[in-house]
Amino acid sequence: MTQAPAVDARYVGAIDQGTTSTRFMVFDHAGAEVARHQVEHEQILPQAGWVEHDPDEIWRNTGLCIREALASAGLTHADLAAVGVTNQRETTVVWNRRTGEPYTNAIVWQDTRSADIAAAADASHGDLIRHRAGLPPAAYFSGGKIAWILRNIDGVREAAGAGEAIFGTTDTWLLWWLTGGPDGGRHLTDVTNASRTMLMDLETLDWDDELLAVFGVPRAMLPEIRSSSEVYGHTCADGPFGGEVPLAGDLGDQHAALVGQACFEPGQLKNTYGTGNFLVLNTGSEIVRSSHGLLTTLGYQFGDAPAVYALEGSIAVTGSAIQWLRDQLGLIREAAETEELAASVADTGGVAFVPAFSGLFAPHWRADARGVIVGLSRFNTKAHIARAALEAICFQSKDVVDAMVVDAGLDLSILRVDGGVTANDLCMQIQADVLGVTVSRPVVTETTALGAAYAAGLAVGFWSGTDELVANWAESKQWHPQWDAAQRTAAHARWTKALTRTHDWV
Ligand code: ADP
Repeated sequence: MTQAPAVDARYVGAIDQGTTSTRFMVFDHAGAEVARHQVEHEQILPQAGWVEHDPDEIWRNTGLCIREALASAGLTHADLAAVGVTNQRETTVVWNRRTGEPYTNAIVWQDTRSADIAAAADASHGDLIRHRAGLPPAAYFSGGKIAWILRNIDGVREAAGAGEAIFGTTDTWLLWWLTGGPDGGRHLTDVTNASRTMLMDLETLDWDDELLAVFGVPRAMLPEIRSSSEVYGHTCADGPFGGEVPLAGDLGDQHAALVGQACFEPGQLKNTYGTGNFLVLNTGSEIVRSSHGLLTTLGYQFGDAPAVYALEGSIAVTGSAIQWLRDQLGLIREAAETEELAASVADTGGVAFVPAFSGLFAPHWRADARGVIVGLSRFNTKAHIARAALEAICFQSKDVVDAMVVDAGLDLSILRVDGGVTANDLCMQIQADVLGVTVSRPVVTETTALGAAYAAGLAVGFWSGTDELVANWAESKQWHPQWDAAQRTAAHARWTKALTRTHDWV
């Protein structure tokens, strides 16, 4: 790791560029929040299956968040020792290096327009992509999105070959603008973001010529791949910070959450419960290739230290099933009501709810699945359905944990959790019951922004090492399993049976 001088500034900043909003947060040395400002951006839905963002709007919102957050706490750039960036992953921007103009809107990770490109790559080079990039070819990842832009947007292919049209995920886009944009902006990304493109070799941590050829992507348009924690450059004095601050951290959001949860030991696992769930397991220096539906990815890389790898399981619908009960069925007025409602019954009354609204993601990967509510009888009420929705969040997480047990020999004793759903105590109790392990929630649940701040602060010596970050991690609450083994086995068998009912629907 690069030695950096200790710094006097009291705080570290983090830009969290998410799918629905962008925020800027400031943390102190103890990892406590000092300031934040957040702005939502438009979800552009031009046709079924397409999801876009306006990259210029994201850059404008980033500037607004920085200025507002600093002003709200009476801070200036001089109070910041460093700034980190974390971002929605895979979302693809291609822009002109001379003018800063995007050739088209950002293609968001949820966008499925490149499904055919991914399917063709799977048919011709599926094994190569799985082995070298650690990913099953899918529209989800950036490589196919770049290929789509090269094929469909006029002039991009020629400009890309000449190095004038350049690609980046939103971390890259923001770092480029913050360091000067057309006027000498740095074009770079980190290993975690690069690991979601299908274009990077997990072993060399460099763009891979064979993978680039599969997707027809010229190397000249790609950013330089750097570690997640080092000084990449400084913010421009005429930018939103109004002065120079080292830009020193860059991680995809789920990787940042792993760091924010201080999961630095192999075998440590975090589960983020938001719209969907994301489980990331630290596998240390070992590249574990999954045979049970998980993704092999980078955990993080701090400076010159060896890269830390991870196994990831993403679940499409968890918190959004609660939104569905609220918005589509009108069973509740707000998400938090599910807790009291579900607690009013002792169990689901035989009901199982599998919210396979857009198929099933990890570890099942069934695009042909659709949601079911099964086991209904006249006796059932909305309380049973609410309870079944909470159970579904927990059982889907258990299925990913089970895959990690087989793929990586995981021996889990404690699960670290964060995200909006973890406010639901009953849901966390069910999670402990279903898994048979302790569930633990930290005081600071903004783990994504915190992880980016940690990466940036480490690079400039604001924190001396990961020991200090581990010491910062404090627990707010624990839940212990209350079910016995027989209860756990029976409940999981019922869930597994319900899962089979979703298959082969479309
Ligand atoms: P994201 O970052 O994906 O937008 P958040 O971490 O903000 O998600 O969490 C929002 C999700 O959490 C929503 O889907 C919402 O339905 C769910 N949620 C929020 N509070 C609760 C609660 N008390 N019980 C159950 N679900 C909740």
